[in-house]
Amino acid sequence: MKKRIIVLAISSLFIIGSAFIVTKKDNIKAQNNTSNMSKNNYKNDGNLSASKEYIEGVQPLYIDGIVVVNKKYGLPQDYRAPEELEKDAIDAAKRMMKSAEEDGVVIKIRSGYRSYSIQSTLYNNYVRRDGKEAADKYSAVPGYSEHQTGLAFDFTTSDTITSIGDWFTDTIQAKWLYENAYKYGFIIRYPEGKEDITGYQYESWHYRYIGEEHSIHFAMNNLTLEEYLGLDK
Ligand SMILES: [Zn+2]
Repeated sequence: MKKRIIVLAISSLFIIGSAFIVTKKDNIKAQNNTSNMSKNNYKNDGNLSASKEYIEGVQPLYIDGIVVVNKKYGLPQDYRAPEELEKDAIDAAKRMMKSAEEDGVVIKIRSGYRSYSIQSTLYNNYVRRDGKEAADKYSAVPGYSEHQTGLAFDFTTSDTITSIGDWFTDTIQAKWLYENAYKYGFIIRYPEGKEDITGYQYESWHYRYIGEEHSIHFAMNNLTLEEYLGLDK
């Protein structure tokens, strides 16, 4: 673990250094709310707060320790969330699925972490099949997928073979997740009726881990991460 932290620290220095030579296409100062940071229970705060400026392809946007990925803010090609945070997300997902099962609802993960190159293959296939305009409504350009963080999951029923899609919306699994995910640190990332804010059509299966201290504000209210972080204006 120590080795990983050192590597992260070195790469942070590299990123800060790179900031001076990379053309900044779109910078945004992350909110520097120290009270929010202190109640944040992410274990990698030191690394996450080391650099706060978004630099396309180099430095992701972090606000209050939350890495933001959407149509506007992408990830460096080799980005993946800090190991401990990803572990927190997986543990939370397991706790959530166990709790659902106790309620008689079997929920499985259809997909989690997806690398830049896998996303490239998927996206290019969708564009070939449906055209770019249609593909962009349900699939992310490589580098702009939340799945690359390792903190986003597509949930499904006990049938993990069938591709996820609109059919999932009418399942008891979708209903259970909608009502309970916020208790486990998860939010529905592309809620119904918020397509103009998220840029994605409603996805009843796609959940993003942001930690309970944040997700608690997302109780069955179709709030988007963009609105919560003030990025929708
Ligand atoms: Zn997804």
